[in-house]
Amino acid sequence: MAEAGRRLARVIGELEKMVAPGVTTEQIDARALELIREKGDEPSFLGYAPAGARKPYPATLCASVNDGIVHGLPSSRPLAEGDIVTLDLGLIHRGWHADSARTIPVGTVPDRVLELIEATREALAAGIEAARPGATLGDVGHAITRVAKKHRVGVVEGLGGHGIGRKLHEAPYVPNSGKPGKGAKLAAGMTIAIEPMFSLGSKLIQQLDDDSFATFDGSLSAHSEHTVAITEAGPVVLTDERCPL
Ligand code: MG
Ligand code: MG
Repeated sequence: MAEAGRRLARVIGELEKMVAPGVTTEQIDARALELIREKGDEPSFLGYAPAGARKPYPATLCASVNDGIVHGLPSSRPLAEGDIVTLDLGLIHRGWHADSARTIPVGTVPDRVLELIEATREALAAGIEAARPGATLGDVGHAITRVAKKHRVGVVEGLGGHGIGRKLHEAPYVPNSGKPGKGAKLAAGMTIAIEPMFSLGSKLIQQLDDDSFATFDGSLSAHSEHTVAITEAGPVVLTDERCPL
């Protein structure tokens, strides 16, 4: 999984460099598939059909623009100056999944929008720091919500992280809110995807006709995700090019 994570981090780093006004998320999606396959790996999302899905997911990348939160389909609409876009993708290396996401500004965006993006990064770091053996999922969610409150942004309700390993989505559900000491206990050997999703407005979500999720009120949303291993020595980020495992 560490190797899957390193490889995914390299791919996302390359895709991030492509983000600019005039580029389409379909172009970024095509490049994502190329980069994953040229190393002999497979995308986690392409053809993925979780329980309840109407049809298998048709792309490598989830690209959620502006009020899009997650599961945005790559499109032929060029990104525009001032947009924000979340690149979310996973890959399978030798049967093991890694999953990671980051929100990237397209050109120049207002300071408050940069703060929204930065808040998800800071919350992800705080959630990871809390993910230690003996801690609980409530501790992780609480750490994430604290950062959201500090930045006066909303924690999107009804979406969260997940266990990950041989499958993309495994138990447990990893909430972005919670009470300290509550919820399932974390133990060394677990691997989870932690993924705070915040908005500048409503915490409520809506599912659109293409199955993607957006904020209910159309406010901007940002998202940061890492796949993390919980070890005796503490949490280790797997979706990092410099992962030491
Ligand atoms: Mg993801
Ligand atoms: Mg995920």
